Amino acid sequence: MFNHFTVVDWNAGNDTGPRPKKDAIWIGEAGQAPRYHRNRISAEDALTARIESALVRGERMMIGFDFPFSYPRRFIETITGHPDPFSFWAYLEQHIEDGPKSNNRFDLAGRLNQVTGGRGPFWGNGLKRDIPGLPRTQTGYHNPFPDRRTCEVAAKGTFTVWQMSGAGSVGSQVFMGLPVLERIRQRFARQIAVWPFEPLDKPIALVEIWPGLINPAVRAATGPDDIRDAVQVKMLAGALANLAPARLHAMLDVEAPLEGSILGLGYEQELEAAVSLKPPPLRNDCFALPPGVNWTPVDDALDMLKNRLSCVVEPENAPLGDAMGRVLSEDVTACRSNPPTPNTAVDGYGFAAASLPEGDAILPLVDGRSAAGAPYAGTVPSGSAVRVLTGAALPDGVDTVVLDEDSTVLDGHVAFRGSIKPGANTRKAGEDAKAGETVLPKGQQITPAGLALAASVGCATLPVFRPLRVAVLSTGDEVVEPGSPAEPGQIFDANRPMLLGMIRRFGFEAVDMGRVPDDRPALRQRLDEAAQQADMILTSGGASAGDEDHVSALLQEAGAMQEWRIALKPGRPLALGLWNGAPVFGLPGNPVAAFVCTLIFARPAMGVLAGQDWRAPQGFDVPAAFSKNKKPGRREYLRARVRDGRAEVFKSEGSGRISGLNWGEGLVELGDEARNIATGDLVRFIPYGSFGL
Ligand code: AMP
Ligand code: MG
Repeated sequence: MFNHFTVVDWNAGNDTGPRPKKDAIWIGEAGQAPRYHRNRISAEDALTARIESALVRGERMMIGFDFPFSYPRRFIETITGHPDPFSFWAYLEQHIEDGPKSNNRFDLAGRLNQVTGGRGPFWGNGLKRDIPGLPRTQTGYHNPFPDRRTCEVAAKGTFTVWQMSGAGSVGSQVFMGLPVLERIRQRFARQIAVWPFEPLDKPIALVEIWPGLINPAVRAATGPDDIRDAVQVKMLAGALANLAPARLHAMLDVEAPLEGSILGLGYEQELEAAVSLKPPPLRNDCFALPPGVNWTPVDDALDMLKNRLSCVVEPENAPLGDAMGRVLSEDVTACRSNPPTPNTAVDGYGFAAASLPEGDAILPLVDGRSAAGAPYAGTVPSGSAVRVLTGAALPDGVDTVVLDEDSTVLDGHVAFRGSIKPGANTRKAGEDAKAGETVLPKGQQITPAGLALAASVGCATLPVFRPLRVAVLSTGDEVVEPGSPAEPGQIFDANRPMLLGMIRRFGFEAVDMGRVPDDRPALRQRLDEAAQQADMILTSGGASAGDEDHVSALLQEAGAMQEWRIALKPGRPLALGLWNGAPVFGLPGNPVAAFVCTLIFARPAMGVLAGQDWRAPQGFDVPAAFSKNKKPGRREYLRARVRDGRAEVFKSEGSGRISGLNWGEGLVELGDEARNIATGDLVRFIPYGSFGL
């Protein structure tokens, strides 16, 4: 598995100057702005630095170059005496003279023509002066070698490696590219493998690619002011990064002819689909509640979110070190078993259980020991024992271990009581996880324990979804920024920091969209920006049906507004809808109601959008430290905490009491029906942590 993909659009010409332009060198990585290089020296430096940083960080990186890595049959052997393509890489590295202002590629092509007969295989001279042996055109030209490699016959629109000049010719690119690759290959000799000539078992892989494979997607994405080379390196890198590892594997699996190949050839449509792995958009009516119901029960509303929302984020790969809190986009299978070999769970002495005598045992000890990471190399003879330390692989001939504390060692022998069970104090290979088995399921949010599990079975990269981006904005003329001077009628914006903090705790990306006054055009514009920058929008305030409730009014205007009247306390009507395709949760302005509605509704909705499995927050029943008469017909959530095994609730249920939110460590959930709670009765307590806070 690779966790970084870089694609390079090469150039054989001279320095192209400081300003980014086409027909220069462009280097693209998924999700990053493409980088311009005016000449090959700059590009070689950048690639070297990039590889170094990948190696330091333990990343696996694939770098694609848009020029052939080899030649049609017989050519290389004719020149170097070896069929091995690397022999010609080294030949070019020796013979190409390269400078920012000029290079000798045409002269070298002419010389090679003279070696192989004089009227080919190379043709095309980009210089004014004539070059001995190099025809300017194909008139009178003779190519003693095949015109194309097998892959070029299959790839429509490719140029031949023999054409040295003219638009799109790759012959020059190969001459000016392979020397650079050869130097990089030598410099990182043990850490680079070249496809398809070598198995890709090194951290860095060099592959041949061709942007022509995704031509329609590139053409569609290139605007009149865009530089096509820049667009295509980024898109191709993105497509490679988006591919499921198994699919990339399939594409890499080619016969390894010495001619090389083009990665993705034959998989054009799949590659193109991977350019933008856009999940399907949400339906406009996804928030519609059943008609004719005055106050919808909480569970009905939740069922709706669960059934009508879907994942809106694209999959990608993340190195283990960046995967904390991310959501798995695929099942993760163990690359190898844990433990990989049977080993000992304790410090002690190992032997074969079948070789023990009846009753107490005294066994001779072999020389040496087995320690973690330093196994005993030999076989322990039947009837003998060996010193073993916790975590050490069991040597051949050992299946059972006796603890230090249960044994005595004297004169090269170990003595212990009989009745020890075969296999005692050992761990079986794969008893924790077996190679190939699913260890972490798709949809799970990665926890520290999940990281440990993935690491233990050898996963350096995890398939995850891009983090969900959630925008937060506050509305209301009365709301001002904490720290700024406030008139008596003004209040500080408490909801925004609260909501931003909640989103971060849930593991999502919080996008702060600031405050907007009660002004419709301003709010409209801010919603436009939020929908651009985020996958979902949380607003607070202005969600009811009053004159100054502009969130609901705007959603109404957009034709996608659903007023949610949920049988819930604390709660006020919520305004739900889609704004330019992004789901909007219009929360009440009241901080307590905004907090509870976020935990109960927005949080599970975010989970679905982010690709998570649906999981109801888990509570537990504890005796109440309070008494209360609860009315029927709505669910209630009280700010609560557990002390001495009993649930305490905050002294006031007032929905403006932010102090109660902070005092609480969870919510007491009281069902929809009426209830008369006496001190000591069991009530359901759900800790904030169970909501993901
Ligand atoms: P609204 O939903 O806009 O009618 O607001 C309901 C109550 O919440 C009013 O008392 C508002 O002043 C208050 N409120 C609205 N937004 C915020 C905020 N960002 N921070 C604190 N209180 C707010
Ligand atoms: Mg308001």
